[in-house]
Amino acid sequence: MPHATIIGAGIVGTSTAAYLQREGFAVTVIDRVPPGEGCSFGNAGGLAFAEIMPTIHPGIYKKLPGWLLDPLGPLTIRWSYLPRALPWFMAAARNTLPGRFAEITKARAFLGLRVVSDFEDLLKTAGCHDLMVYRETLRVFESQAQFDSEAHERDIKKAHGFPVEIYSGDEAREMEPDLSPAITHASTHGGWYFVKDPERVVKTIAEQVARDGGTFLQKEVKEIKVEDGKATFITFADGRTLPLDRLVICAGAYSHLLARQLGDNVLLEAERGYHIVLPEPGVKLSRSITYARTPGAATPMAMGLRLAGTDEFAGLDAAPNYKRADALWHVFKRALPGLRPPDEKATRWMGRRPGTPDSLPVIGPSKHVQNVFYGFGHGHMGLTWGPSTGRMLAELMGSKPANADLTPFRVDRF
Ligand SMILES: Cc1cc2nc3c(=O)[nH]c(=O)nc-3n(C[C@H](O)[C@H](O)[C@H](O)COP(=O)(O)OP(=O)(O)OC[C@H]3O[C@@H](n4cnc5c(N)ncnc54)[C@H](O)[C@@H]3O)c2cc1C
Repeated sequence: MPHATIIGAGIVGTSTAAYLQREGFAVTVIDRVPPGEGCSFGNAGGLAFAEIMPTIHPGIYKKLPGWLLDPLGPLTIRWSYLPRALPWFMAAARNTLPGRFAEITKARAFLGLRVVSDFEDLLKTAGCHDLMVYRETLRVFESQAQFDSEAHERDIKKAHGFPVEIYSGDEAREMEPDLSPAITHASTHGGWYFVKDPERVVKTIAEQVARDGGTFLQKEVKEIKVEDGKATFITFADGRTLPLDRLVICAGAYSHLLARQLGDNVLLEAERGYHIVLPEPGVKLSRSITYARTPGAATPMAMGLRLAGTDEFAGLDAAPNYKRADALWHVFKRALPGLRPPDEKATRWMGRRPGTPDSLPVIGPSKHVQNVFYGFGHGHMGLTWGPSTGRMLAELMGSKPANADLTPFRVDRF
């Protein structure tokens, strides 16, 4: 029986483990924390498969100066960190040129094609299908000008086959009565379902992998040893070693540190996002909402209303600035006036999105080491694309034809 070792027990690593088992692999999953407690713990829960625009796109240029001047704004860079992030930002700027923008959008649309079926497949097998809610996210706007400013984005989505529905403010309030009277327009985007507990999703898939014979090790990987072009063993922080047959790196925002040991150089930045969960929010939502005023979402989850979003570039290790989580409350209070202030039961969290400068993940083999594969760099879309990434990687490793062009996701594109 072939064996695969997977570094990272987030949504990407556990999905990869589950699909590799179906391809006949025995699997060992390694993480320094329990499954689902990295970035996959606290996201907004959106299966946002219609989000095909790259994160950094020409449309945000106008907003960028205002955002950057506000330390609590939707996108911030800690200035001391800027020199280190500069190559990433320069590459991101090149990717906004029209030709690249079209290629990236097409590749992102491709990744969305089987999101629902792959997700359902894993959740049903793991017995937690009830975590998925098939109700479309509502995007809300507070003026005609704000609504019009996204016309181009809606056109691109439609051109890629995502049906866009438009609603008046009153129609939006019929769907979600707690929305502010100031909301003038709303839209749905042909796909953005949500899950009620992203951590539970990962943990339940991991439990199923374990029931199917997979092994989980809570350890930190320090070094990957390569001999004659093959990864032969890994060394843990405690000095112990583990021999390798095949290795998959799904280590989220830390993946480039491991890939670099293998000669694969990747531009990856921690795009740090925040959430605040209000167990007793004072408002009711039946679906997730996004608000054109700020990137982010308010999602009704099992543990309360989760307001999640923002993008902070400060490196992997800088201390969190939880004022950014509270800033989300201040913005969403405008769309949901009944929102109660955070009390002592409210929880705050920061997570590191693994962000590439072209808003596309790395999916496929190492260029330098023959038995190593990568699945990381999913940025703002890891929950959405995690299961499909796992399936594609498992099929590649099981030598099934890919039936798709995976070149946009190759590791040597940076
Ligand atoms: C605020 C916020 C909102 C978001 N909302 C959404 C959303 O609505 N929809 C969506 O699709 N995505 C969303 N995302 C993005 C999504 O959460 C991430 O893309 C996704 O969780 C990445 O999954 P992963 O498995 O690659 O990484 P992770 O979940 O971070 O897993 C990687 C794991 O690797 C482990 N690891 C790393 N290095 C080592 C090592 N050397 N040794 C051992 N273990 C190691 C880490 O401990 C970690 O647990 C959001 C993110 C944030 C922060």
